[in-house]
Amino acid sequence: MNILAIESSCDETAVAVVKDGRTVLADAIASQADMHAIYGGVVPEIASRKHIEAIAGLADQALTQAGVTKADIDAVAVTYAPGLIGALLVGVNFAKSVAYGLGVPIVPVHHVRGHIAANYIAHPDLEPPFVCLCVSGGNTLIVDVQDYTEMKIMGATRDDAAGECFDKVARVLGIGYPGGAPMDRLAQGGDDKRYELPRAHVAGAPLDMSFSGLKTAVLNLAHNAVQRGETLDLPGLAASFAAAVSDTLVPRVMEAAGRTGYGKIAVAGGVAANSRIRADLERACQASGNKLYLPPLHLCGDNGAMIGCQGYYEYLAGVRGDWSLNAYATRNIGKG
Ligand code: ATP
Ligand code: MG
Ligand code: FE
Repeated sequence: MNILAIESSCDETAVAVVKDGRTVLADAIASQADMHAIYGGVVPEIASRKHIEAIAGLADQALTQAGVTKADIDAVAVTYAPGLIGALLVGVNFAKSVAYGLGVPIVPVHHVRGHIAANYIAHPDLEPPFVCLCVSGGNTLIVDVQDYTEMKIMGATRDDAAGECFDKVARVLGIGYPGGAPMDRLAQGGDDKRYELPRAHVAGAPLDMSFSGLKTAVLNLAHNAVQRGETLDLPGLAASFAAAVSDTLVPRVMEAAGRTGYGKIAVAGGVAANSRIRADLERACQASGNKLYLPPLHLCGDNGAMIGCQGYYEYLAGVRGDWSLNAYATRNIGKG
């Protein structure tokens, strides 16, 4: 079964063709990051306009790359939530038009469920149940993936997402946008004990997280340094910051995995590319006997293939959109 998958929730337009869930025949992607970098963050209206310019051309490109025609498409999967509403609407409307024209079903896919599914593409042996740490630009969740379409949130950030925190810190330090990858590179040469940064705990909710205090601590360091005319040790700060984020995430996902007893941990989302978090998870999983599933770097950030993969499992579970399908800026992962 061939699924044409469409993703437009943020600043990447992506169209993929995925066969039987896990075989990616094509994965065409156009990033707008350079455009938004001028403003230091995603400008929603520009994002919507860039999606509408790119989407049909990418669909053509994906079909050609996959070596299939429109007649070979059996269903259309599309990210319908969560994300920037104007951006999502472009993808949902395009997906509807294609499904309508081809006379095939449309399958709405939750974006973070898609991030989780990137692991199915990367690891042919991976099947639920497992615990997944979902860390991206807008979400930070510990999810009990009971089945392909049955999920429960075990823990979540109470404020900023981990990726958002990377991006805001990078912006203040003048490291660029999006900030996660350059912060990661900068941290390679740094002393992770150079700056003392907070690791927050949420009283009464041991699996929940908070990153706003960490963000504020780095912003204060930066402002004080400017005021005093001091120079910050940027590699040291980047390394200390990555350590603080990792120290917040890793023990909680290990605790969650221990509670379920699944013995399997996956990681998903753009921040899953972070080298410190990957290394700390490898160590913790080795020590505790959990099997760790990490997506390759090209499947960590937004892409269409992950939506096609999750779309296949949603399709098998009977999930269908009708012609009144809408987009939603927020949506609980457990509700699909
Ligand atoms: P969401 O998936 O929550 O809707 P999004 O789609 O914008 O948000 P992703 O594309 O999954 O997020 O991930 C982008 C985020 O990942 C950005 O915040 C970016 O800075 C971060 N990121 C990318 N590479 C790294 C890295 N190596 N280390 C840390 N963060 C990273
Ligand atoms: Mg992006
Ligand atoms: Fe994403």
